[in-house]
Amino acid sequence: MLTLTNLQVLYDRSIQAVRDVSLTVPKGKVVALLGSNGAGKSTILKAISGVLGQEDGEVIGGDIRFEGDSLVHAAPRAIIERGLLQVPEGRALFATLTVEENLIMGGYTRSPAETREGLERVYAMFPRVKERRKQISGYLSGGEQQMVAIGRALMGRPRLLMLDEPSLGLAPQIVETIFETVLALNRDTGLTVLLVEQNAQVALKAASYGYIIENGRIVLDGPADKLAANDDVQEFYLGFA
Ligand code: ATP
Repeated sequence: MLTLTNLQVLYDRSIQAVRDVSLTVPKGKVVALLGSNGAGKSTILKAISGVLGQEDGEVIGGDIRFEGDSLVHAAPRAIIERGLLQVPEGRALFATLTVEENLIMGGYTRSPAETREGLERVYAMFPRVKERRKQISGYLSGGEQQMVAIGRALMGRPRLLMLDEPSLGLAPQIVETIFETVLALNRDTGLTVLLVEQNAQVALKAASYGYIIENGRIVLDGPADKLAANDDVQEFYLGFA
């Protein structure tokens, strides 16, 4: 469904953040992209979403194809309309708006009827978000904000959902709830997911295939269970010496 081939990304015409990255996200699968701080994970997601230009970054080589079409020169809005939606790192909610207003913003490419139906779906999925719908989102807990951020992306009816470090700063119990919901969506609706995480432990449980990135390059990839059993992955990413 989504294929990156030898992708190269440069910031400020000088800093190469992504080198020769090739990866595939097959339709209906959950694929994990793992790596530590600064490895280049968010840069890859920004390249796919077409928003690198906002940070003086550019794709200088390789290709990003979604269902056969190149996205490298596509506008961010066109990419969203094709169904590629990203939940950014740090959630990026409109902090002074209510939960429901944030969700409605996520449906801006959709009709009013689709927006109403989207709200119902998100509230059914995250009862906690429904309870908090009239509250100012800046006052919610980190876990609740992550749920709203995922809900907001779902309002745009994604076909491929990209999650940038959804577990960051959250308690294990909340991480579990969030991952269960994403996996249920994948199972029940066939939603394809590209999951970016530093937390390899939770990501490899959720994904069927994983890629490990270091200094802008993919250094290892394979089925999630094989990666989880790999000695190097255990030592460097899962904290087992
Ligand atoms: P994190 O988990 O910390 O977000 P990451 O794996 O997502 O890490 P990126 O944010 O993609 O890493 O960063 C990759 C490299 O690109 C880093 O060396 C970073 O300093 C650099 N970089 C990221 N954004 C910019 C920018 N706007 N301008 C210049 N360099 C950048």
